[in-house]
Amino acid sequence: MIWIQDLDYLIQDAERILCGADLLIDGERIVAVGKVDPESARGATVISGKGKIAMPGFVNTHTHLYQNMLKGMGDMLRLKPWCEQVTFPFASIIHQEERETDEPQLGYHWAALGAMEMVRSGITSFVDMDIVQDGVLRAWQDVGVRGNLALQLVNRWVPKELMVPDEQRKEKALGIIERWHNRGKLSVSMAPSTPFACTPEFLLWIAKTAEEKDLQIYIHISETNWEVQQAKDETGFTPFGYLEDVGFFTKPVHAVHCVCVEPGDIEIMKKRGIDVIYNPKSNAKLGSGIAPIETYLKNKIPVAVSTDGPASNDMLDMFEEMRFGQLLQKAANCDPLAVSVKEMFNMATKEGARMMDIEAGVLEEGKLADVVLLDDSGVHMQPMNGVLQTVFYCAKSQDVDCVIIGGEVVLQDKAFVTVDEKSIINKAVELRNRAKQHVGEKLDADF
Ligand SMILES: [Zn+2]
Repeated sequence: MIWIQDLDYLIQDAERILCGADLLIDGERIVAVGKVDPESARGATVISGKGKIAMPGFVNTHTHLYQNMLKGMGDMLRLKPWCEQVTFPFASIIHQEERETDEPQLGYHWAALGAMEMVRSGITSFVDMDIVQDGVLRAWQDVGVRGNLALQLVNRWVPKELMVPDEQRKEKALGIIERWHNRGKLSVSMAPSTPFACTPEFLLWIAKTAEEKDLQIYIHISETNWEVQQAKDETGFTPFGYLEDVGFFTKPVHAVHCVCVEPGDIEIMKKRGIDVIYNPKSNAKLGSGIAPIETYLKNKIPVAVSTDGPASNDMLDMFEEMRFGQLLQKAANCDPLAVSVKEMFNMATKEGARMMDIEAGVLEEGKLADVVLLDDSGVHMQPMNGVLQTVFYCAKSQDVDCVIIGGEVVLQDKAFVTVDEKSIINKAVELRNRAKQHVGEKLDADF
């Protein structure tokens, strides 16, 4: 048991904030919030809440951790050349490593780096649309995070050297599902990268497999005007219209981006129970545009906010993401009333948890103990006028002091308990340097 005592503030969710409260955790769940009976907490490990604010861990519903090796690359590029010049060359390094060894090291290290960076930003759960590798999940198991590997599946629109027979892709995906889905804090979902990176047959196999195995589906849709125009030229439909036409929406999917949508797309989203994952910084960096979040909220289409991958952001920081995402909506709509602090905080916590289908994103009895303690003593946090507003507009990742995920203390006093952070960073840099020798000249950046 863990007994967090005498917190300055406890944010249960955007609507409920307690002062001077305690929190009691037993196993993976929260068992008491507010006043704790000392008898029921006998033998518990005590953590002082003095000078701290407890809040639900952030839920980052969309990232690509393999891009962690590509931070800072590919500025001044639109989406298509950015893929061709930044991400595809690195994907070919990954494939080369897989061919050369049965125990690839890159995946473990990009996944561990990403998981650690997210924990330091108060993220306790996430969905990583990533390369299909066991090492990724092993890393998360070691760090102690709640991760969902969204198997990034493509069989079109990628360079020849990355193409493999469909049967091989399917077998690899099914193997990962078998070994890792619903194993402790880990789970697996299906992720056709975009409507046009997969053939219609492959899309339907993905939808069918997700249905049979009760897996979620994540997919990038309508990220750029270029994509929408391309879809119309090729098929006569928008990307949403095309997926509806091929019969892909047999179950609700989580649609990433949705920057460039038309009224007919909104109708498909409502009809099929599709929700939206908003990536404001990535959409801004790639010049893709600003997703119409106000329109989604008015149409009762649920929205979560996320960081996208580190090559198009270039950080995994939910404080910055939710703040930027909310300010952007106010600017885009010329309206200071557009998207409130409460709405955006919910998108970063409760809504994300609902999308991931986990009982988290809120601190209350019976929920998973995914808890973040913020140090509120920093000069940028004081004096405090409104707890939620201060956390939203003023807090930084550096204020994250303690992170508990499923009742397991992962970070305490700003240091990792579960892994040796420094040695993982050193090894990741060594692997990146080795990869550079393979394809450095292909990359249009100082890799
Ligand atoms: Zn993405």
